[in-house]
Amino acid sequence: MRYEGAIYRPPSEAYSLIVQVTVGCAHNDCTFCSMFKDKQFHVRKLADILDDLADAHRAYRRVGRVFLADGDALVLPEDELITILARIRELFPECERIGVYGSPQDVLRKGENSLRRLREEGLGIVYIGAESGSDNVLSAVKKGAASAEITEAVRLIERAGIPASVTFISGLAGADGWEDHAVKTGRMITESAPSYVGLLTLMVDPAAPIYYDIKEGRFTLLPAEGVVDETILMLENIDIPAGKTCVFRSNHASNYLSLKGDLPRDKEALLSRLREARGDGAMLKDERFRLL
Ligand code: SF4
Repeated sequence: MRYEGAIYRPPSEAYSLIVQVTVGCAHNDCTFCSMFKDKQFHVRKLADILDDLADAHRAYRRVGRVFLADGDALVLPEDELITILARIRELFPECERIGVYGSPQDVLRKGENSLRRLREEGLGIVYIGAESGSDNVLSAVKKGAASAEITEAVRLIERAGIPASVTFISGLAGADGWEDHAVKTGRMITESAPSYVGLLTLMVDPAAPIYYDIKEGRFTLLPAEGVVDETILMLENIDIPAGKTCVFRSNHASNYLSLKGDLPRDKEALLSRLREARGDGAMLKDERFRLL
């Protein structure tokens, strides 16, 4: 296997075979993100990707999951993706799931029919970084997509029969806009009703542009107690429609409090735990133990 630069994958792909189909992120402008700042975005040659799959077939006896990296594999044309998915199924018939990151724009460009074809060829999950439901926040962090576009992209993925795993970031509005961030994020989750929601908490790497906003006083980090208040308000604004289940996880190394539950069933239990933590700071992870 050949890899270019540092490789990132969602936490739930920890044991997956990672195959780079693109290098870097086509957008690469989000102020909170340092993942691909050192990479010049490009799509890898199809022949090289297929060679990597053949290498992996020689090296591993069993491959249960495959994740197609880097930032937004859905940027590839449909026919190339289908060739890659078909080769994975041929080489690894035991593979249970193939996942990708998808940017909202690439999902919208593909459309429901193309996504359906990709599902039929084996695409099993699309991870999408929404970060916030608030247009104020999305614009401030240069996400490059509006809340309506992200909502529609998540709906399209789900309508095509592919589970969408959507990431949001606590504290992304800082100390000044947290209520708007919380309410609009809760509404986006309600309107898009993804299969999975992952809630991280903002941590700042010095290579991320937002680091300079903090240093120069343009952005004030939300303290741990504020993150709990924000999460309470966000959950209060989530109302998953009847007949749907949204697996809610806030158990990343960056989070102050680990939360897991299925919505709507566990909403009150999650809120109780958060309210308990609001009155007992000892329940919150010490700053020293948080990780990106
Ligand atoms: S957060 Fe995602 S879209 Fe934004 S720069 Fe990082 S990888 Fe690209």
